[in-house]
Amino acid sequence: PRTSVITGAASGIGKATKELLEQRGERVIGADLHDTEVVADLSTAEGRSSLVDAVRKVSGGRIDAIYAVAGLDFPIAATAAVNFFGAVATLEGLRPLLKDSDAPRAVVVSSMAALFATDDELVAQLTTGDEAGAMARAEVLAKEPTTGGLIYCSSKLALSRWVRRQAATEAWAGAGIPLNAVAPGVIATPMTAELTATEEARTALLKQVPMPLNGIADAIVVARLLAWLNSVENTHLCGQIVYIDGGSDAVMRGDSV
Ligand code: NAD
Repeated sequence: PRTSVITGAASGIGKATKELLEQRGERVIGADLHDTEVVADLSTAEGRSSLVDAVRKVSGGRIDAIYAVAGLDFPIAATAAVNFFGAVATLEGLRPLLKDSDAPRAVVVSSMAALFATDDELVAQLTTGDEAGAMARAEVLAKEPTTGGLIYCSSKLALSRWVRRQAATEAWAGAGIPLNAVAPGVIATPMTAELTATEEARTALLKQVPMPLNGIADAIVVARLLAWLNSVENTHLCGQIVYIDGGSDAVMRGDSV
């Protein structure tokens, strides 16, 4: 069976993906802050390297697929650390373990929030890999309620761009590894529980994130797409940001393709 690594496996989309793959007979090594095979804090450099060390040990040095799902949506600097640097470190750190797979695959969870307002300075710092600068900028944004939300959107925009820039390089496509992202709309998980708790809150949220096709989705909906992108069947889908958002991208970006 294939061996997959999933970060954020203790909750929401990561948990649903782990359960789906296990039902299909795959071996899954889950990683998260708690309640998983591997415990690692992706907000720090030490946590990121301990993830790689632990996965190398538990897997025996060979894996088939990486699912970088872990993320935070609080208006705090750690959100940029986990969502961008944690995700990139997961993908780059675990990539060498894909070397002996017959069908190596990698996918990361971005967000349709990348289409909302972002902070140019933070996006530039993330994109150039300047973690110290990005953290300092995020601390400034976190101080004001009006700018705190820019941290999440900026982290996801930088992550989507990272996938666009990396996917076709020697390290990924050149090594036979499809690298893609998914960009979910509103998904019912603990992350959105408060935002979707009442009919009123849901209506307000869907005004911001229009989802004309079937509205708010369950985590399994995203899990099935992630599983396909990382399956043996995916031989040519590469460098895409696949919006799984009930149509919000089509509403918001219209003719942009
Ligand atoms: P969730 O909160 O249920 O799960 C996120 C998981 O990430 C948690 O188990 C958490 O412990 C883990 N995590 C957070 N910080 C971590 C750290 N420092 N180190 C290791 N693990 C850490 O949320 P979810 O909705 O399942 O989110 C999964 C991904 O989907 C995230 O990247 C999120 O940004 C993205 N996303 C979610 C939605 C949505 O509507 N729920 C929409 C778009 C994108």
